[in-house]
Amino acid sequence: MMPLARRIVRNRLAAFGAGLLLTVTCLCLATPFLGLVDPNIINTADRFTMPFDEGYILGADHLGRDILSRLLWGTRLSLAVGLTAALIAALAGSLIGIAAGFFGGRVDALLMRSVDVLMAFPYILLALAIVAVLGPGLMNALIAVAVVNVPFFARNVRGMTLVIARSDFIAAARLSGRGNLSLLLFEVLPNLWAVIIVAFSTTVGWMILETAGLSFLGLGSQPPQSDLGSMLGEARAALITNPHTSLIPGLMIFVIVMGINLLGDGMRDALDPRLSKGGLQRSRPVTEIDRSKPPAPSRQPGLHLSGLCTEFRVGSSPLLAVRNVTLGLAPGECLAIVGESGSGKSVTALSVMGLVASPPAVITAGTVSYGGRDLLAQTYDVLRGLRGHRIAYIFQDPLNSLHPMLTVGEQLTEAMQSHEAGLSSDRLRERATKLLEDVRIANPAHVLASYPHMLSGGMRQRISIAMALANDPDVIIADEPTTALDVTVQAQVLKILDRLRREKGVGLVFISHDLNVVAQISDRIAVMYAGQIVENGPSRDVLDDPAHPYTRALLACSPQIGMAAGLPKPIGGSLPPADNLPAGCTFAARCSLASKACRALPVDLVISDEREVRCIKWEPAHG
Ligand code: ADP
Ligand code: MG
Repeated sequence: MMPLARRIVRNRLAAFGAGLLLTVTCLCLATPFLGLVDPNIINTADRFTMPFDEGYILGADHLGRDILSRLLWGTRLSLAVGLTAALIAALAGSLIGIAAGFFGGRVDALLMRSVDVLMAFPYILLALAIVAVLGPGLMNALIAVAVVNVPFFARNVRGMTLVIARSDFIAAARLSGRGNLSLLLFEVLPNLWAVIIVAFSTTVGWMILETAGLSFLGLGSQPPQSDLGSMLGEARAALITNPHTSLIPGLMIFVIVMGINLLGDGMRDALDPRLSKGGLQRSRPVTEIDRSKPPAPSRQPGLHLSGLCTEFRVGSSPLLAVRNVTLGLAPGECLAIVGESGSGKSVTALSVMGLVASPPAVITAGTVSYGGRDLLAQTYDVLRGLRGHRIAYIFQDPLNSLHPMLTVGEQLTEAMQSHEAGLSSDRLRERATKLLEDVRIANPAHVLASYPHMLSGGMRQRISIAMALANDPDVIIADEPTTALDVTVQAQVLKILDRLRREKGVGLVFISHDLNVVAQISDRIAVMYAGQIVENGPSRDVLDDPAHPYTRALLACSPQIGMAAGLPKPIGGSLPPADNLPAGCTFAARCSLASKACRALPVDLVISDEREVRCIKWEPAHG
């Protein structure tokens, strides 16, 4: 089954809605073949016959017409009209929205202002006015309902088209010489389907109700033709005396609209999982902590992690992203954490300050000691005081971590003010300038007045570093700060970080997937694999004499000038899934040295002198 259909079926309510609709649709399709009596034959002698009486399964109405026959024929008509109106509204609205969003400028202004005019009238009044002008009749009711629903589609689709039309992949397609039509059909439209279908499925029920409403008022289907709305309208007079005449069509409307809405909600959740229950949950300000007996915090200066475990509680078995990580960072030291993407480096770094999003993250064990305190036991206010003040972060993507609407100067001063109130604006400006000079920006005055998008990637990364430095932190955690940069800028950024650490004694946790980069700056290297530290030691030792097969593989796959062995060798295979880790060594599946013993039991970290290695084949130099 297609994944979408499977997701809908898995959602019980949506499946129930689909079942209801399917039943009604089958009944409608089969109506002509059921041998029902003519729905319009009047038989006054049988007026208001009750259901199951005298050959009338659902009874007869005020003119003695067979309700079952009228109901099924009426449902056919109501569904056909409602669906057609919805299709027309969706088609017209989407076309308007796509044209407005894609071409922008005058086209957009013209189309959207016309739509605004439609939206300026109350919904039902507009429909009534249209029918009043065109005259009553089912066709005119259809047109009215379609017209009043066009703005809804146009607005939704325009918004989405605006975003898509300005994204990079459209620019790339345009550069490859594609025309507007081809872009619209093959690039924009496929990205809009989900929005259009979601909008359609959530409004079609409403449109069937509106058509019924117009018929109820006598403006839709005209006697003797029955549709659900007119059946209700005609039965209104006998609502108290013979309720079955109105209950039956009412129930049918209820079933149809509920079926459509349940299915529509299910489809929306399946197409856009972020909107489903819990998907848009706000994360807490601090990562959830659920640990039994944490080790006492260390009294040593610097930052120390001990036995840290962080997992993501999603699905049936938790994703163990960080498992029993112990690391230490002395003041002024640079500790590198390396490992391929997904090995748990970022989650480790974010756990330090409780910055991993909860739900779904939970810290299940360990301590983070800083200044003799356990950071994981602190209240949110204490942590907030430390975040960015004593322990600062630099993130990988400098464009996403800077605010697009504020100038560099405003962001830098905000970073300072949030931890130190009452600085004069002259003093703030002076300090911001000094910070930019510290990160080797040549014309600070100009850069302070610029917005992030006006600056180059390297410049923006330097600004993120300057922001991290704004409050003279003791520790900076830099999560792949140079990954987005080219090699020359990367070298400059490394130099800046290294100098800061030497001059200001800042402790630096430097996360990277590239051993070549960390070789230039780190004192110690910790290698992570599948959430665990597999090797940890002084940089020179780890680089010159890698002990773990994974470290060796990482070294072999990072290119170096004048590499003896020629091209870098990629590591075959991939990380084991974090919710289904192997019993033994997690690297065994990709390791050429692996034996049966490796796969049997979890491998402990062996500590000898300054080195820690998680490999049973490792023999420490001095026993
Ligand atoms: P990296 O070493 O590349 O920084 P991460 O620390 O970001 O790796 O991720 C470690 C593991 O945690 C990965 O298996 C990833 O799939 C998982 N993970 C990260 N964030 C989430 C999240 N919000 N929900 C579920 N799993 C996550
Ligand atoms: Mg990462």
